[in-house]
Amino acid sequence: MINRSLVGKLWLAIVILVILVMFLLGLFLSQFFEDFYFSLKSQELAANGGKIAEMIASAPDRQEWEEELFIISKYIDAKIVITDRRGLIRSCTIQGRGMHRGAKIEFPDVEKILQGEIVVQRGVYPALDMTVLSVGVPIKFQREVIGAVFLHSPVEPVTQTVRTVQKFILYGTVGTIFLATILGFILSKRITKPILDMNRVALEMAKGNFNSKVTIESEDEIGLLGSTLNHLSAELQKNIDALSTGKEQLENILTSMTDAVITIDTSGNILLINPPASELLNLSKEAGLRNIHDLNLFSELKEYFQAVLMDKTQIKTEIELNDRTFKIGLTPLRHEAGDIRGVVAVLHDVTKERQLESLRREFVANVSHELRSPLSLLQGYVEALADGLAENEEERQKYLNILLDETLRLRRLVNDLLDLTQLETGNISMKFEKIPVEELVYRVANRFNPLFGEQNKNIVVSLPGGLPFIRGDEDRLQQVLVNLLDNALKYTPVNGTVEIGAVPHEKSVEVYVQDSGPGIPKEELEHVWERFYKVDKARTRETEGGTGLGLAIVKNIVQAHGGEVNATSEPGKGTKFSFHIPLYEQEKE
Ligand code: ADP
Repeated sequence: MINRSLVGKLWLAIVILVILVMFLLGLFLSQFFEDFYFSLKSQELAANGGKIAEMIASAPDRQEWEEELFIISKYIDAKIVITDRRGLIRSCTIQGRGMHRGAKIEFPDVEKILQGEIVVQRGVYPALDMTVLSVGVPIKFQREVIGAVFLHSPVEPVTQTVRTVQKFILYGTVGTIFLATILGFILSKRITKPILDMNRVALEMAKGNFNSKVTIESEDEIGLLGSTLNHLSAELQKNIDALSTGKEQLENILTSMTDAVITIDTSGNILLINPPASELLNLSKEAGLRNIHDLNLFSELKEYFQAVLMDKTQIKTEIELNDRTFKIGLTPLRHEAGDIRGVVAVLHDVTKERQLESLRREFVANVSHELRSPLSLLQGYVEALADGLAENEEERQKYLNILLDETLRLRRLVNDLLDLTQLETGNISMKFEKIPVEELVYRVANRFNPLFGEQNKNIVVSLPGGLPFIRGDEDRLQQVLVNLLDNALKYTPVNGTVEIGAVPHEKSVEVYVQDSGPGIPKEELEHVWERFYKVDKARTRETEGGTGLGLAIVKNIVQAHGGEVNATSEPGKGTKFSFHIPLYEQEKE
């Protein structure tokens, strides 16, 4: 805990330093005081010893000195022992074990003293049972050592002084630690608090909240750091705001685009993708941004991305994806320094345009093809007539009839084409009215009745009572029925029957034409509504010379009414063409 905070660390360092310094100081001072005192005391004792030795040497024969010695002892605060030159006690101020006259003095280095040296000693003196400072001084008479003086002074006062010094040092240490702690608190308030405050603000900034600010309480380096942080926060907010506005605009543009846009970086990570592109690549939003190499992406597209990354040049081309045609433009994205940082691909769906183009081409080819055969027939017969190839009037008449037929067919073809084009381009005006289905059906059936009779074929009308009205253009709906009955008549064999009828439904009326012709193979059924489609090309051309446009016109008219067409067939038994037209009432609501 202490270690984790800056002030804690500071406090710990100060405390350790103080303890170390005070300990060394204590050690040094104690030693110094001790040494100083002992050397002073030893000198004093030696001097006193010297004086006593002189005093004794002045009366070498006197044996008893106790009286003087006791007075001196008190005065100099030291026990005194006098020995003769053999080390036997002569006088002594110590009363204790073995300290009587004639006893051998117990003192280390006593020999040295008796040889004339002064010896200073510190230690426990057994006779006194305490630690003392002792000095032994030889007594010289006429350059001869005649004995020795021993002075023992207690060291208690020194020990006490040293202890007092140590106590002061201890108090000093505790006081300093206490002061360091108070300093720590003050520092914590002045340093740690603002730093913690800045930390909080920085964390908020990381979360995207730039509103919280550092409170600046001082003008020192920490205060400066705080105001710099506030400035940084304000600038960041400005920049991020600008960036996100730009990003939002870009996102809006990309989202509202119909073209697919994908941006990748050099390692293939998708940086940006708009909804049409996600849809095209089958990426759900939750999938997030992924790497194109992890995706089951169209390999052709991957190759183009790779090519742009390698060659660093733009590619514009057309590709087929999912049966759709795209114009694709891939452009390298560059850093300011010029090196490549990714690729942006824009895919524009041109499927419809291409389909329309091919439809147009197909249409022109079909029309030319359809026109060519009657025209070459016309040319052939006209040439034959012009060259006088007709042998007689009858043959000439025959040629002319063929010419008339072909001209009529040409006219029908051109009319059908015109109708279909107008229907497809919506250039035809429909006059929607309330139409009774029964009337419509009977009117057309009656028109066909004589034709059926002529060809020995039957026509049956089947209508339930109370059919609702439909909303439609009478003339156009008649055209639908005429086209259907035309086909039915054409494909129904002699003695066969064609049924025309209607069935009411919830929102529409279904009108149908059922024949008993050869039927249409299943795989061809869905194509019969296409322009110029003929199931059996050879037969159609030979027999009636249909244009292949009839059913396409039917489908277009019905769709213009908001209805739909349907065809079912059983080969060999017949075909049923039907269409639904919405009810009049329902339309009006
Ligand atoms: P066409 O003018 O050639 O009859 P349609 O568009 O009306 O052109 O018909 C397209 C093709 O559908 C025809 O060529 C024919 O092969 C087939 N078809 C149309 N109606 C019938 C039918 N009732 N029975 C069998 N085949 C039919």
